[in-house]
Amino acid sequence: MIYFDYAATTPPYDDVINTVAEVMKRHYGNPSSIHQLGEDADKLLRRAREVCASALQIKPSEVVFTSGATESNNFAIKGAAFQYRSRGNHIITTEIEHASVYESFLQLKELGYDVTFLPVDRDGNVSPAQVGAAIQDNTILVSVMHVNNEVGTIQPIREIGQIIKQKHPRVLFHVDGVQGFGKIPVRIKDWGIDLYSLSAHKIRGPKGVGILYVHEGVKLFPLLSGGGQERGLRSGTENIANIVGMSKALRIAHEKQSENYNKWTEFRDLIVDAIEKIPQLQLNSTKKGTPNIIHFSYPGMKSEVLLHTLEQEGVAVSTRSACSSKHTEPSRVLLAMGRDLAAASSGIRISLGDDHTLQNVEVLIKALNAAVEKLRPLERGK
Ligand code: PLP
Repeated sequence: MIYFDYAATTPPYDDVINTVAEVMKRHYGNPSSIHQLGEDADKLLRRAREVCASALQIKPSEVVFTSGATESNNFAIKGAAFQYRSRGNHIITTEIEHASVYESFLQLKELGYDVTFLPVDRDGNVSPAQVGAAIQDNTILVSVMHVNNEVGTIQPIREIGQIIKQKHPRVLFHVDGVQGFGKIPVRIKDWGIDLYSLSAHKIRGPKGVGILYVHEGVKLFPLLSGGGQERGLRSGTENIANIVGMSKALRIAHEKQSENYNKWTEFRDLIVDAIEKIPQLQLNSTKKGTPNIIHFSYPGMKSEVLLHTLEQEGVAVSTRSACSSKHTEPSRVLLAMGRDLAAASSGIRISLGDDHTLQNVEVLIKALNAAVEKLRPLERGK
C-alpha cells in the first residue's frame, strides 16, 4: 500500500523516533525540577525552543509549546477573544477553516461574540479587500488559514496582514499554518502575523505536540491554568521528548521546503494531467494551490466507495480532512466553494510526502484509472 494521505498525518522520520525514545529513556526529568535531571531536561527544552524559533524565524520567547494545532488554534482564538473582550466583540474568519478554528468561532458566537464567516470563491480564495471591508471598530481578531487542508488553496496571508497592520493595527491576526509550513514559504515576522499555529505530526514529527507563536507583546487569556509553564500562558509539564522530536522535524521541514516544493510541483502536474483525462473526475484544487495537495470529486459516486476501490488498487488516499473523514455529510469546504451536493459528497484528497518517488506517482495514476474503470457501471443514474 502506498500512502498518499500526508495532509492527514505523516510517518515520523527515523531520527525523530530515535530521538523521542532516547529523551524518554535518559532525560525523563521534569524541567521545573531543580536537581540535575530537571536541569538536564530544562536544557533540552531550551535548546529545542531555539531550534524551533530558528526554523520559524521568530524569537525563542515567542514559542509556546502545545499539544498540537487543535490546542494552538483554540488558544489563539479564545485566548485573544477573552483577553481583548473590553476592546470589542467582533471576530472574523472564513467559511473554510479547519474545524478547530471554525468550531471555536461557533462556540464564541454562543458566548455572545459577533462572528463574521467570510465566504470564498470557487477556488477557495478569500480576498484581502474582503477582509479589510469586514473589519469594524469593534473587531479584535482575524483568523485565516495559510493553506486549506482539504483543497490546498493558499490564502494571501501577506496581503491580509498588510491591510490589518497598516489600517487596523489594534486587530490581532491569527494564521493556522499547519498545512503551509514546510510546504510553501512563510515569513511570520514580515507578514504582520501575531499568532501562528503549527502541528508536528504534519511534518514527520510526533503526534500530540505543536506550537503557538505569540508575537512579543500580545497577551492571551490562558486556557490552561496551573504551574505557570510556558511563561504562564500554557500550564502543564512540558512533553520534552515530543518537543525535542518536533524540533528535529521542524528544522528538516524548513531546510527542505523549496526542494520538496519543486518535486511536489512536478508530481502534482503529472497527477492533475491524469485526472483531467478521466472524464468522470472534476478537479477542485488548482495549480495555484499548494503542490502537495490534489483534490477532485467523482459526482455520482460516494467518496468512501472510491477510496476503498483505490485501496484495493494499492493506494491510500483521503475522503477529506482526516478528522472529518469519518463523518458522511458532504464537505463544508466544497459547499462553501459553490460545489453542489453530488460534488461535495464525492471528494477525494491526494496528499504527497517528501519521500514519494516518481514510481509511486505512476502507481497512483494507474490506480486512479483502474478504480474509475471498475466503478463506472455503478455510477448513479447510469
Ligand atoms: N489545522 C489544520 C489546517 C489541520 O489540517 C489540522 C489537522 O488536521 C489541524 C489544524 C489540527 O492539528 P492537530 O492534529 O495537531 O490537532
